[in-house]
Amino acid sequence: MNPIFHSGAFAGKTVVVTGSSRGIGKKMAQAFAASGANVVVNYSGSQQQAEETVQQIQDQGGQAVAIRADLSSIADIRALFDQTLEQFGRLDILVNNAGIMNTLPLAQVTEEDFDRHFTLNAKGTFFACQAAVEHLGEGGRIINISTSVIGGMLPGYSVYAGTKGAVEQFTRQLAKELGPKGITINAVAPGPVNTELFLEGKSEQQIAGITGMNAFGRLGETEDITGAVLFLASEEARWITGQTLRVNGGFN
Ligand code: NAD
Repeated sequence: MNPIFHSGAFAGKTVVVTGSSRGIGKKMAQAFAASGANVVVNYSGSQQQAEETVQQIQDQGGQAVAIRADLSSIADIRALFDQTLEQFGRLDILVNNAGIMNTLPLAQVTEEDFDRHFTLNAKGTFFACQAAVEHLGEGGRIINISTSVIGGMLPGYSVYAGTKGAVEQFTRQLAKELGPKGITINAVAPGPVNTELFLEGKSEQQIAGITGMNAFGRLGETEDITGAVLFLASEEARWITGQTLRVNGGFN
């Protein structure tokens, strides 16, 4: 894969991308590695996919390790960063990407659905920020992955959008707390992207309808998201914090 930034742009930096065995997270892990970073490919269940991702990165001359941690568990989150420090000796960038989405009308949402979404998407993101900040120094970066469905009123998305609303608010609230440490925190909110999370359970007709909601009439691809994330992780983004960047092809 071509580096988005030059191949040494992130040399010497360590990046943790949560949930990066597939989808958008995998593409970000590959892009960081191609730009010189040491990358932690985090997974919870899919060890084989995580190991394949690491192998692909290493085959391209990059540095990566796979570390298992369920981002719903605070103990696992803390262990993820401890192991990252053991492997690479430092932490510079956290991308909070791990997430789940199940769309259901209000009447069908169960307590279990609600808790599962909030426990991973909101609580996991929050406590990963807390654990990462112990290790991040001046120039540290946190990028939280939100969603552009927050801007709409799509039926069935209430719980999922609620979790990402929390993520965007954490991002804003933490900006001034982390600024004195020289750390920026921002969110990237993709529109619909061609991944299993988006495609699962949708008919061709639903996908075509959603595809028609952006300016370009095609579905977003994982590589459409990585540039914004790498930019926010770079030194060039030092004056940007507390913001959400909607990376969605004009999805509305
Ligand atoms: P995906 O399902 O392909 O990837 C999600 C990743 O999270 C997977 O690697 C999965 O194994 C991991 N994960 C799930 N539960 C986990 C847990 N408990 N602990 C650690 N990792 C876990 O989905 P994706 O589309 O690549 O989504 C990535 C992020 O982007 C999510 O936060 C999602 O909400 C967000 N997003 C996706 C879209 C889209 O249309 N695909 C749009 C906007 C935002």
